[in-house]
Amino acid sequence: MISVEEALTKILNSIQILGSEEKPLLDCLGQVLTEDVYSPFDVPPRDNSAMDGYAVKASNIKGASHKNPKVLKVVGEIAAGSVLDLKVEHRTAIRIMTGAFIPDGADVVVPFEDTDEIDRKEAALSNTEIGICASLAEGRNIRRRGEDISKGERVLKKGKLLCPADIGVLASLGKSVVSVVRRPLVGILATGNEVAEIDRPLPPGKIYNSNSYSLAAQVLQYGGIPKFLGVAPDDVEKLTAAVREGLECDILITSGGVSVGDYDVVKQVLAAEGNVSFWTVRMKPGKPLAFGMFKRSDGKEIPHLGLPGNPVSSMITFEVFARPAIFKMMGRNNLSKSNITAVMEDSIANTDQRRIFTRVAITRKNGKYFAHTTGPQGSGILSSMSKANGLAIIPENIRQLKPGTPVEVMMLDWEEVHD
Ligand code: AMP
Ligand code: MG
Repeated sequence: MISVEEALTKILNSIQILGSEEKPLLDCLGQVLTEDVYSPFDVPPRDNSAMDGYAVKASNIKGASHKNPKVLKVVGEIAAGSVLDLKVEHRTAIRIMTGAFIPDGADVVVPFEDTDEIDRKEAALSNTEIGICASLAEGRNIRRRGEDISKGERVLKKGKLLCPADIGVLASLGKSVVSVVRRPLVGILATGNEVAEIDRPLPPGKIYNSNSYSLAAQVLQYGGIPKFLGVAPDDVEKLTAAVREGLECDILITSGGVSVGDYDVVKQVLAAEGNVSFWTVRMKPGKPLAFGMFKRSDGKEIPHLGLPGNPVSSMITFEVFARPAIFKMMGRNNLSKSNITAVMEDSIANTDQRRIFTRVAITRKNGKYFAHTTGPQGSGILSSMSKANGLAIIPENIRQLKPGTPVEVMMLDWEEVHD
């Protein structure tokens, strides 16, 4: 038996980061930048108003208050987006909207609520003058040119996993097309004579192919593009053809046919088509695992991960081995999940010193996390996986985990956007 770490290291050592693609900005969310991005200009491009109000000279409103307003002459109005060829001169004001560029001569914006504008309207007074009722210091309510990003600054680093704010930052630079590491195309092949497609009545003795769907959903969740390769029966010719089709992908994932007792067609085909190792990994569920490199006719090497057929085993081995492989292909720096520490509420027996990934639901009480198992833990019981939002990791060396013991939990439903 090999450890989880040993298996993962071997897999990751054979995985290469994929090439880049140029795509419209929004399509790049969740992908990794392949270039440093520098700003061609200042953002914002000029000093502009943070409030709706009056742009004035601070020196003209010293000592202003509601009791003692400083009355200035209003010489114009600027809305956001328009440019006005007007200056604020001594004892004049320009009415200004949020986002509008600050006119020359002004050094402060007084918001409407610090003026007598409403009183003047109510009293039907002329709007050619305004009373300023607060003594604001120079620079107040002005957003400075370049205060967000300055010209020439490196805004985003090569290798950054793009989050929604990054998409916004790139848009603010006018970048409509971005170069990112492309998403892997992940071939998904189910194997087994007993496995039937889900879009027809279930023939006697068969079970529906749930694995291809749960695995494809995981591929999507983690940023890959799933490609269904159907179900291959335990037949050398058909399986060989399906595996070869899978080599058009960036990685091939199969489910089933890798356990010790399996009818050895899958193993035979995999061994004939590639350089495959069959492992027993010290984990539960998911002990049997195959990993290999397949050489395509064009010489390119495609990694293959053979997951066990039991529905929970295939999902958990995906989480532990396939997800980090996909992350690595996508150029992500952090290949691990968000793990938390939670107090285990149930007792768990570890009979053969494997690492157990227990399906748990996490609750939070008084700022502390608690984990309880979601039902029977058989590797075919997918419903207890669907009730779980985490996998509690019970170490190999623990024989009996007592309730109340803190455990590490790999969260399944936490969105990881930061590297
Ligand atoms: P295997 O690893 O091929 O021995 O498969 C173990 C068990 O997993 C089988 O007996 C099936 O019950 C189940 N199984 C295998 N493939 C699938 C699949 N694609 N969808 C759902 N269950 C499967
Ligand atoms: Mg099978």
